[in-house]
Amino acid sequence: MSRNIAIIGSGFLGLTLALRFAEQGNRVTVFESASEIGGLASAWEIGDLVWDKHYHVTLLSDSFTRKIVEEIGLADEFEWVETKTGFYTDGRLVSMSNTLEFLQFPPLDLISKFRLGGTIFYAARVKDWKALEKISVEDWLTKLSGKKTFEKMWKPLLKAKLGEAYKETSAAFIWATIQRMYAARNSGLKREMFGYVRGGYARVLERFGEHLQAKGVEIRLNCKVLATEFTENIEKNLNVIYEKISENSVSSVAEKFDKIILTCPSNIAAKICPQLTENEKTKLENIKYQGIVCASVLMKKSLSNFYVTNITDETPFTGIIEMSALVDKTEFGGNALVYLPKYVAPDDELFEKTDAEIEEIFINELEKMYPHFSRKDVLAFKISRVRNVFPIPTLNYSANVPDVKTSLENVFIVNSAQITNGTLNVNETVQLAEKFFENHLRN
Ligand SMILES: Cc1cc2nc3c(=O)[nH]c(=O)nc-3n(C[C@H](O)[C@H](O)[C@H](O)COP(=O)(O)OP(=O)(O)OC[C@H]3O[C@@H](n4cnc5c(N)ncnc54)[C@H](O)[C@@H]3O)c2cc1C
Repeated sequence: MSRNIAIIGSGFLGLTLALRFAEQGNRVTVFESASEIGGLASAWEIGDLVWDKHYHVTLLSDSFTRKIVEEIGLADEFEWVETKTGFYTDGRLVSMSNTLEFLQFPPLDLISKFRLGGTIFYAARVKDWKALEKISVEDWLTKLSGKKTFEKMWKPLLKAKLGEAYKETSAAFIWATIQRMYAARNSGLKREMFGYVRGGYARVLERFGEHLQAKGVEIRLNCKVLATEFTENIEKNLNVIYEKISENSVSSVAEKFDKIILTCPSNIAAKICPQLTENEKTKLENIKYQGIVCASVLMKKSLSNFYVTNITDETPFTGIIEMSALVDKTEFGGNALVYLPKYVAPDDELFEKTDAEIEEIFINELEKMYPHFSRKDVLAFKISRVRNVFPIPTLNYSANVPDVKTSLENVFIVNSAQITNGTLNVNETVQLAEKFFENHLRN
């Protein structure tokens, strides 16, 4: 039987679900508050270039991402590249892309290096991730690597992604990160190959949108969902109430559906569904998110040949991702594209700073770090701010995850909070969509 289905959010989760429902012959409407599809993976203009708002890479082992890209007809458009990793530590930039470089790595003595290597080797082989949810990441890594290595290496790396929330984070976080790193190596090749689709996510999303439209999916941009409403008089009614934003007006509309699937962050889902039980709302609101302020910098010259530069010193940004060390520079008009992410709590004061203030702080730091860098070479600088990027995997996280099925008949909440044994990436997102479609939503 064909049903009328509303999907809230057009990130990879919403788009994958829309595809599967449409393939079943349902009528599918996707509501998206932004003016384009793709959510965290969406693209924007920087200078005269269109590229991903946030740095994105695909691993050879990302079978779910690759399958979707294949379904929309872009499988042959992947480029696979062997990348290099750098470390900025004690005011120096060093390469750490192979075992020899690891052994020569200056800030750690030989014993600390063996303990660090041993920790990674051991973590890659642990199967029982649930047991790791009971231990804090700090305690676990200190036990395995020693206090010195924890302070010098692990702590700055954890803080780079989690800020002060690393103190509440379980060891399952670092386990999942190491698992993903190893998956890249275990996919047949011993080398770590990173991939991208020529044209970036702008191209993938454009094709995904066309593919969905060809299957009859209606995508409504600039439509912010305010609430879902369940009424029961003579018959049961399930409504989506949304705000349609156009150039000169904002109008509020209610529309009836048979099924509603929310893919937005949990705290937003709690607001959109006021009829959930208090217990359900509390569970959703208790999911603690990490946010990001992420600068894209288009510049005439490269900073380095490292795709990722990890930083263990105190700097205003928490890593450097040089897209042009992965992507052919012809995609960027011969220029270099660098991302400067700073992961922060959703209420961090950095969100209140102006673009000009952030640009000044970040560019100043680049000048200190890279003697050959000059601000005159910056062609464009653009900042993305997102308050809810990924949930912090706190102790016993999986036991407290809200269920996808809610107490409201035919209302489901599926989002990254339900990724319990992985990191946030498109592959996990698509896998989550496929799994929930199979288990809960197919019928
Ligand atoms: C800095 C950064 C780097 C990343 N790097 C990689 C990488 O290298 N490789 C990789 O595979 N993945 C990477 N990711 C992760 C990847 O982007 C995510 O896994 C994926 O995009 C999540 O998709 P989603 O649909 O779950 O969520 P989202 O993309 O957040 O989608 C949710 C959508 O819901 C919409 N929405 C919210 N509220 C409402 C409302 N009330 N009404 C209507 N719409 C609403 C939002 O606008 C958004 O479009 C990265 C992410 C970031 C931020």
